[in-house]
Amino acid sequence: METNNLSIFNELESEVRSYCRSFPAIFNKAKGYKLWDVEGNEYIDFFSGAGALNYGHNDPKMKAKLVDYILNDGIAHSLDKATAAKAEFLEKFNNVILKPRNMEYKVMFPGPTGTNTVESALKLARKVTGRTDVISFTNGFHGMTIGSLSVTGNSFKRKGAGIPLQHVVTMPYDSFVNDELDTLEYLERFLEDNGSGVEIPAAMILETVQGEGGINAARFEWLQKVESICRRFGILLIVDDVQAGVGRTGTFFSFEKAGITPDIICLSKSIGGYGLPLALTLINPKYDIWEPGEHNGTFRGNNLAFVTATEALTYWETDSFEKSIQEKSDKITEFLVGLTVKYPQIKGTVRGRGFMQGIATEVDGLASDIAKAAFERGLIMETAGPEDEVFKLFPALTIDNEGLEKGFAIIEESIKSLVN
Ligand code: PMP
Repeated sequence: METNNLSIFNELESEVRSYCRSFPAIFNKAKGYKLWDVEGNEYIDFFSGAGALNYGHNDPKMKAKLVDYILNDGIAHSLDKATAAKAEFLEKFNNVILKPRNMEYKVMFPGPTGTNTVESALKLARKVTGRTDVISFTNGFHGMTIGSLSVTGNSFKRKGAGIPLQHVVTMPYDSFVNDELDTLEYLERFLEDNGSGVEIPAAMILETVQGEGGINAARFEWLQKVESICRRFGILLIVDDVQAGVGRTGTFFSFEKAGITPDIICLSKSIGGYGLPLALTLINPKYDIWEPGEHNGTFRGNNLAFVTATEALTYWETDSFEKSIQEKSDKITEFLVGLTVKYPQIKGTVRGRGFMQGIATEVDGLASDIAKAAFERGLIMETAGPEDEVFKLFPALTIDNEGLEKGFAIIEESIKSLVN
């Protein structure tokens, strides 16, 4: 069969292709935490579409709902029209997610992707405040379009596009991890001083745990301090929960334990439940000053994604799912800490929170080599950080202990093969 051959991609697909280079196989089947390629090889998925598959592949309940919807000629595309699928999603999202957390937000469907929600958040913050500047943080990742890229702190991805743009200040992220250099204090002084040249920005945008930027987890006090600066100067706080949200860090929203209240929240990736494209921008009702049609687009609110997203919320109806995530994430931490002790040669530090953890290694190129060796042994795992110095473990939140153990064994074998 011709599709067995990767050469079609080399010949026809743009040089921009990425993951099909690091995972050189053609996949055609997936279930739960497993993937298969066309040659029948089985892989354990510790990548989960970079957080888009928190419930694993082809969740049986979501699949049943989707098949049923299609067989009954449910509406797939409706543009912005009201549909039953959308109504059901909104109602369940309010009842299962917002109300129990005492959260009051208007829900906007900005377009199908994470980038779309970030763009809408930046635009809205400018409209609400009448200001233009935005403060983002080094190593943050918010998307690849010009606006979202301008708040993304990745020099490789910015340089071709001629970014930085005007009106974005990128603050060092160091005080996330380093108590001594408190960049937020500097920022506050700049903002206080009318002569400093630093304008009060429209918004600050951040990830509570930086996914692509290296699994840097913000301390809760740091987040609270960012929030208090935002309140003091009337700056909108945008939390980009595209990757860290929907349970990835242990709670539905990544900021719940920090006790902060963002003005705008960006959700995408796993919110669709099944890997189907869906994005939400949650807006503090007092800032929902959009005029009808002011931000529109053809593919906002895919009804197939509403069907699976609604079913996915069932996981959050009781607290047992959250408990199971926390128990399993303790196992991940224990495993990773164990590796750093057992293999001091990797010069590793454990980073992250919940199901968003990894090891940063000081040995040049080692994280990528470990990911490569793991792939050869049947495990799919991604690297992160500005120098790809982190290998990150992103299994589905629904993975069982057996799946975790199998993945752990492959990672350990891969490390052994490289350091011994
Ligand atoms: N924000 C964050 C935190 C992300 O991790 C990503 C994707 N990796 C995006 C935004 C952009 O999402 P998308 O790729 O769906 O446009």
